[in-house]
Amino acid sequence: MEDLKISTGKEVKAQFSRPYTSHHQVIVVGGGSAGISVAAQLNNKLKSSDIAIIDPASDHFYQPLWTLAGVGVVEKEETHKPMGEVIPEGTVWIQDAVTGFDPDNQLVITKKGDHYSYDYLVVAPGIQINWDAVPGLAEGIGSNGICSVYSYRYVDYVNECVNNLKEGKALFTQPMGPFKCGGAPQKIMYMSSDTWRKKGVLKNIDVNFTSGGSIIFGVPEIAEALKKPIERYGISTHFSHNLKEIKVEEKIAVYDIYKDEKVVDQKEIKFDMLHVTPPMSAPDFVKSSHLANADGWVDVHKHTLQHNKYPNVFGLGDAGSTPNAKTGAAVRKQAKVVSGNILSLINKGELDKSQHYKGYGSCPLLTGYGKLILAEFDYDNNMMPSFPINQAKERYSMYVMKKEVLPRLYWHGMLKGRA
Ligand SMILES: Cc1cc2nc3c(=O)[nH]c(=O)nc-3n(C[C@H](O)[C@H](O)[C@H](O)COP(=O)(O)OP(=O)(O)OC[C@H]3O[C@@H](n4cnc5c(N)ncnc54)[C@H](O)[C@@H]3O)c2cc1C
Repeated sequence: MEDLKISTGKEVKAQFSRPYTSHHQVIVVGGGSAGISVAAQLNNKLKSSDIAIIDPASDHFYQPLWTLAGVGVVEKEETHKPMGEVIPEGTVWIQDAVTGFDPDNQLVITKKGDHYSYDYLVVAPGIQINWDAVPGLAEGIGSNGICSVYSYRYVDYVNECVNNLKEGKALFTQPMGPFKCGGAPQKIMYMSSDTWRKKGVLKNIDVNFTSGGSIIFGVPEIAEALKKPIERYGISTHFSHNLKEIKVEEKIAVYDIYKDEKVVDQKEIKFDMLHVTPPMSAPDFVKSSHLANADGWVDVHKHTLQHNKYPNVFGLGDAGSTPNAKTGAAVRKQAKVVSGNILSLINKGELDKSQHYKGYGSCPLLTGYGKLILAEFDYDNNMMPSFPINQAKERYSMYVMKKEVLPRLYWHGMLKGRA
């Protein structure tokens, strides 16, 4: 049995009954947008830091460009870099998957069977995509016109489907329940529709948005502005339609139709192209841990992002329990709060009272080539514009920002802990 002194500001002593592989002042679980941002900020500010990032992936992805890659506006190869290139210099990358947490003993357990101990833990493994939650989806995706920009692997097939379709019915789904980037199911639909318009075939294609939700967008001003592209492309909207099954060979999408949160009917729609936004959830290994809330997410305070039970644990990004729109833009604000609070705990033994996450999320809604509505909002869907412009409007300037400016800001600012 080892006796290890843990410096959480309160000089907590932990008794470890198991051997541990190594100890780090800060362990970050997940080297995605959130994990790398926090690690970089801490690494920049701590005089002598000891930070380890645990992530099994060999590549880091900038997912916001997948909607543009899906119609060939950018090459999908532009959307990723080797993980080793984004790991902040001076931090340790452990290429392994976390399988469990033992927060009472300040331990993280990995797939290779190692145990890592920490003073502070940052949990940021993103959201889990449940491809097998819809029968037919896992087998059918990548064939028979069934595609999705929610996976790097299928981005090229989306482009192929869009470019090959000359006539028929196109369906774009949005699931019930939480998913990342609330606007992406629509963005790829508007970009596909504009591609068909440019090719002169839109008049032959019946474009349909089928959503498990009940409205087009949570912010009323933005919902109003979206009427314009919907009308321009002649899109039919169908709410309370949740994709339940795909009959792959027959090219039929089966929907549960909801009313007052109950299934009241079932509908089959034959398609020529089906773009699926798959169901998502908290990662299984988080769900089954002591760090999870009742819904499986990392159970953190919505303003401080500190764990509600374990004060030396923080959670952010898509895996966090905060009720904001799950976006990289939210991560940018959250990372500052998490790194600020950990620094303050290390230096002063208390949280930094100036750090307060208000639920900021942003959705750059691509509505066509050279057109974008930038929606920025807080927990209560109040608009939080970063620029002094009417945001409820399609703009070329915002399209350029998404395509050209934000990716640079991401790779050279956010991931370096500077933005
Ligand atoms: C099609 C699409 C379009 C989008 N568009 C936008 C947009 O326009 N604007 C915007 O702001 N956001 C957008 N997003 C959302 C944005 O990409 C995510 O919200 C953001 O990446 C969340 O960051 P994260 O670090 O929580 O998760 P991720 O960036 O997904 O990173 C999670 C990391 O955790 C790692 N991990 C997983 N399991 C484990 C494990 N067991 N152990 C250790 N590590 C693990 C993964 O390998 C990964 O590296 C989009 C997403 C998609 C898919």
